Parts: sequence; C-alpha cells; structure tokens
Amino acid sequence: MPVAVTRRTLLSAAAACTTASFAVAQPALGPRPRAGEVRAGAGGTKVVLLGTKGGPRVNKGRANPSNLVIAAGRSYVVDCGYGVTRQLVAAGVEAQEVRTILITHNHSDHMLEVGPLIYNAWAGGLTEPIEVRGPPPIGKIVTNFLESVGYDIDIRMEDEGRPDLRKFVRVHEFEAPPLGAGAATAFERDGLRVSAVRVRHPPITHAYAYRFDAPDRSIVLSGDTTYSPELVALAKGADVLVHEAMHLAGLDRLLSRNPNAPTLRKHLVESHTTTEQLGHVAAEAGVKTLVLSHLVPGDDPSITAAMWTEDVRKNFSGEIVIGRDLMTI
Ligand SMILES: [Zn+2]
Ligand SMILES: [Zn+2]
Repeated sequence: MPVAVTRRTLLSAAAACTTASFAVAQPALGPRPRAGEVRAGAGGTKVVLLGTKGGPRVNKGRANPSNLVIAAGRSYVVDCGYGVTRQLVAAGVEAQEVRTILITHNHSDHMLEVGPLIYNAWAGGLTEPIEVRGPPPIGKIVTNFLESVGYDIDIRMEDEGRPDLRKFVRVHEFEAPPLGAGAATAFERDGLRVSAVRVRHPPITHAYAYRFDAPDRSIVLSGDTTYSPELVALAKGADVLVHEAMHLAGLDRLLSRNPNAPTLRKHLVESHTTTEQLGHVAAEAGVKTLVLSHLVPGDDPSITAAMWTEDVRKNFSGEIVIGRDLMTI
C-alpha cells in the first residue's frame, strides 16, 4: 500500500495574481475536529513550546525542537525533534489528536521523530487521516519510515485487527517561493491561513518559516534561520514571534565540548540568529511578543534569563519571553 504523497510548488501572492493558469488543486479538507481537539482549542489560538533546545544532542534538560499550535480547534505540530510524542502527552495532547504536522526543514532536530509521531498516533487508535506538510525530501522521509516499520504494521493488522496505517498518511511536500520572492499560502482551513516563506539557513535551501493567521491572533514560527529579511516581512505586525536564538558567548563554551568545533562554529554563525540580531528582527517586524526558543546553547544553565535578553533589548522594546518546555503562549 503506497503512501499518498503530493508535490507542488507554492507561488508567492504576487506571482499568483499574475499567473492566470495557477490552478493547483487544494487537498481535500480534513475531517471536523473531534471532541478532544475542540477542548484543546478552547481559549483561542495559542502556541505550546514542546521542546526549546536547538540542535540534535539529547540531554536531560530541555527537549529537542518542537511546537504545538492550537488554532481553529485543531492541533498542529510544527517540527518533530526527538521526544516529540512524550512532550505532546506531557502537554495534555494525545498523539492521535494530531491531524497536521508541519516541518520547517529537514535537519534531524526538526524531523527525527516525524515518523514515530505518526506511528504513535496509529498506536493510540488513529481513525482519521493524518497529514504531513513540509519541504523536500519530506515525502521520502515519511515513506521510508513507514517502510521500515512495515513488518510491525503488517503483524499488528493481522494479529490485532488494526487498520493499515499507510492508508491514513497524507504527505503534502511543497516548495516555497525562491528567496526574496515573498511568502505563499501553504493551506487554509476553518478561517485559519498558514503562510510559508523561505529563510536563510545554509547549506539547507528548503528552510521555511510559517505564519498562522487565525481570526483572533497571528503566530509566526521562524524555524532555523540566520537574519533573513524574508522572515522580517513574514512576521510584520504579528502578535507572537517564536524565534530561534543563539547566545554567542555561551556558544564557545558549547563548542569546547565538541570535537568538530571549528566546522560547527562556522555553520552556527552563518545559519543561525544571535540574540543581538534577534532584537533587530523583532523591532523591524514590529511584533508584540518575542519568544526565544531553539536555544543554542540550550543546555548551559550558566546563561541566565538576563543574559538571554540583554542583547535583544538593545533594539527591541516589546515583550520578551524566554521559552521553556511546555510553556503556553
Ligand atoms: Zn535546529
Ligand atoms: Zn537547522
């Protein structure tokens, strides 16, 4: 049973207006939210930080990157770092309540457990489709995962009478417009619009940030990026910007524990955002609340809250929140 994978290239708003032939079929709307999701949606649009430590290393402190956006009565998981299912459960959401997973880019700290989350939703009694949306090669990643657990799926179908997980998975792989070409609508549902923009996170070219526009609130998630004017434009006037943050002084202590320090430092500086740059981003975008997450280093308790905000404050006068795991905003 092959997994349903669709692929498309998103057009920016400007390009869509001038392209008469633009007629990409939207995927069918998902089912109405179930009781659990409606309950989770009470109280308006919000984001729950599931994991706030950047990078693939696992430790006993902060969990690896993942966020939960609850909007229009539906749960959206954005990124699936290691431990995402356990963090979801800790936040009060069962895996099978998740209907949509979005991936910002395919570094492992953002997608390592996309497959296990889908599997865990099935193990929890999934009865409706679950969709995965994100940049290439997300289709291959999900397909290969399902193949790797095919033996188990087949046995449980036969032995436990479970439905075929592969029939429930819908992968929507898409490409955001090129750098500088603006944002595009990734999908719309129940009064919620989710937009995607390409950001600068070399050497990965398919790194996206997402903006959720619900009737009551707008939330932007940066994904991984260095300073990107594209992200500033996407976040213009947003209520909440959840943005990655790197503390330069702490970085060198982090690197002293890594054998590949020189190469890693080059990657981090060229493709992530320092706290000082972050103040510029938030101020230029004019966001109300800036949430620091995907902290690098995320496992150094000697970096105090005051140290995280110090350089952001040089340029940004709005509300600053230092993200913690399971914090709701
Ligand atoms: Zn990352
Ligand atoms: Zn990354």
